[in-house]
Amino acid sequence: MYFPSWMRQLYRGLSAQPAWASPRRSLVLSPHRRLPEFSSFIARTNTCGELRSSHLGQEVTLCGWIQYRRQNIFLVLRDFHGLVQIVIPQDESAASVKKILCEAPVESVVQVSGTVVARPPGQENPKMPTGEIEIKVKTAELLNSCKKLPFEIKDFVKKTEALRLQYRYLDLRSFQMQRNLRLRSQMVMRMREYLCNLHGFIDIETPTLFKKTPGGAKEFLVPSREPGKFYSLPQSPQQFKQLLMIGGFDRYFQVARCYRDEGSRPDRQPEFTQIDIEMSFVDQTGIQQLIEGLLQYSWPSDRGAVALPFPSMTFAEALATYGTDKPDTRFGMKIIDISNVFRNTEIGFLQDALSKPQGTVKAICVPGGAKYLKRKDIESIRKFAVDHFNQCSLLGKLRLECADLLEKKGVVLRDPALFSFLWVVDFPLFLPKEDNPRELESAHHPFTAPHPSDIHLLYTEPEKVRSQHYDLVLNGSEIGGGSIRIHNAELQHYVLATLLKEDVKLLSHLLQALDYGAPPHGGIALGLDRLMCLVTGSPSIRDVIAFPKSFRGHDLMSSAPDCVPPEDLKPYHIQVSWPADSESEKNSLNLHQES
Ligand code: ASP
Repeated sequence: MYFPSWMRQLYRGLSAQPAWASPRRSLVLSPHRRLPEFSSFIARTNTCGELRSSHLGQEVTLCGWIQYRRQNIFLVLRDFHGLVQIVIPQDESAASVKKILCEAPVESVVQVSGTVVARPPGQENPKMPTGEIEIKVKTAELLNSCKKLPFEIKDFVKKTEALRLQYRYLDLRSFQMQRNLRLRSQMVMRMREYLCNLHGFIDIETPTLFKKTPGGAKEFLVPSREPGKFYSLPQSPQQFKQLLMIGGFDRYFQVARCYRDEGSRPDRQPEFTQIDIEMSFVDQTGIQQLIEGLLQYSWPSDRGAVALPFPSMTFAEALATYGTDKPDTRFGMKIIDISNVFRNTEIGFLQDALSKPQGTVKAICVPGGAKYLKRKDIESIRKFAVDHFNQCSLLGKLRLECADLLEKKGVVLRDPALFSFLWVVDFPLFLPKEDNPRELESAHHPFTAPHPSDIHLLYTEPEKVRSQHYDLVLNGSEIGGGSIRIHNAELQHYVLATLLKEDVKLLSHLLQALDYGAPPHGGIALGLDRLMCLVTGSPSIRDVIAFPKSFRGHDLMSSAPDCVPPEDLKPYHIQVSWPADSESEKNSLNLHQES
C-alpha cells in the first residue's frame, strides 16, 4: 500500500513518544512521569496509531475518521495519533458492518470493534508504525457521516489560506495543525513546570476589561452601559503585573491574552498570547538567566540543544553592524563602515554624504555575489535601495534582501534547523516620536527604568539616556522584551509628566501604589505565537493559532467583526456613524432587522 510522505510523518510525529520523554529529562522533571492515558473515560480502548504486534489477539474499540478505502476491502482509520488498517468483513453474516464501512464517505466518523490480527505474510507495511497489524472488525457504527468537503484534508492538497480559515475546523484535522498545536501545548506545559515547580512562580490571571492608559500600542475599546465610558482591552498585563509585585506576589507569570489594534501586519494578530513574567528583587541578568533556563527546559529535544548563555549585543552595535535592532545572526554579511576609504574621494555623492554631520559610507560584502547575482538582481537591489531611501534601517533591509536573492540561487545562508538566540540590550530609554520628532516617546514602555549610569542625563539630555530594557531575538525575529521597572513614584511621575507629556491622572493608581513600599522589580514577556512559529518552522503565526484572524483582522469562519442592530447599541449610548461608502452594509442590516 502506498503512503504519501505527509502520512508517514503523521505516524512518526504523533505515534512516537513526545519529544520530551527522553529518560534524562523525565528523570530531572519527575521520577513518576509516564505517557498520558489517551483513552481514559471514553468509548475507545486504544488510539489508531498505537497498535503493534504486541497487541495481537486483543479485542479493541477504535474511533476515528475514515482516511480512505481501498476496493471495499480495506479502510484506513485516522485519529490524532496515527492510522490503522481495518479489514472490511466480506462474509454474508457481516453484511450490515460491510454496508456501514463501504458506504460511509471519507472523513465520516466511525466506531469499530474487533480483534488485532497480524497482516498476512508479505503484506506488512514497514513505513507504517501500525503496519504489522490490522483490525478484523466485528461491529461498526457510523457516528456521523461527512458531506462533500470544500477541500481534501490531505496536507499535499494545496488550498488557499482564506479557505483554510473559513473551514478552520477542517484545516485543524491536518497533520500540520495537529502537530503545531500539540507541540504548543506541550511547550507551554513545560514552561509551567519550569516556572511553578522548579522556580516557585505562581500563575495569576489579570483582567481583560481594563481602561485606556497612556503609552504603547493602540487599544481596542469596549463600550460600557455608562454613557461615554469605555473599557479597553489591555495590550499586555504590564500594570497589573507591577501591581502584583507591590501586592507581595514576587514571582508571577501568566499565559496572557493581549490585544492590540494595530491594523494589518503579516506577523501580527489583533489578539495574541504572551508568556508574561515579573519578579521582585531582580536585575537584568536574573531575568535573562531565567528566560534562558526556561527556553532550554521547554525546548523540544528534536529541535537540537539550546546552548547557554545566549550572546548579547548592544542596541548601538546591532544598528551599526546589522542595521536593525533584531539581527538575524545565523549569517554574517555585516555592515562595514568604509568612510575612511573615501575620505579624499572626488566622487560627488560620496563627498556629499561624508560632509554631512555624522555622514558615513557603509558597505555590505555579499560573499559569492559576483558569482550568483546577475545584472537583473543588481538592478533589483538598486531599486530596493531607491524605494527605501531615507529609512535608517535601509542597510539592514538590504542585507536581508541580498540574503533572499542568494538563497533563491540555492546558497544556504539561514539554516532553517539553526536557532540563533540573541539578547539586545542598552536600548535608548526614549526615541523621537515618529509624527513629531521634537517630542519623545518610550522605546519600550513608560515604566522602563533608566540605565543606572545615565540617570543624571534624564534631567539634561533625556534623549541620550540608555534604559534597562532587553529584547530577545531569535533568527531575526523579536520573540520577547522586557525591562527593569521604575519603582520610585517621583521618578515615574517625572518621566510620564515632564518627559513624555502624558496625562498622569490616567495612571494615578500606579503612581499611588509605587508610593506604598513598591519593591524593585522587573520582567519580560515572550511572544508565544511568534516563538511557536519559529520552533515549528511555520510560514505564518496563523499556523500556530487554532482560530486566528485573517490578515485584515477578520474571523473568516464566523465573519467577525459583524454588524449589530441599533437597539443592541442603545444600552451603550452609542450610534454608528456610517461612512458614505458603506451603504450596502447598512442596508443589509436593515433588511436583516425587517425579516
Ligand atoms: N509588557 C511588555 C510588552 O508587552 C513586556 C514587559 O515589559 O514585560 O512588551
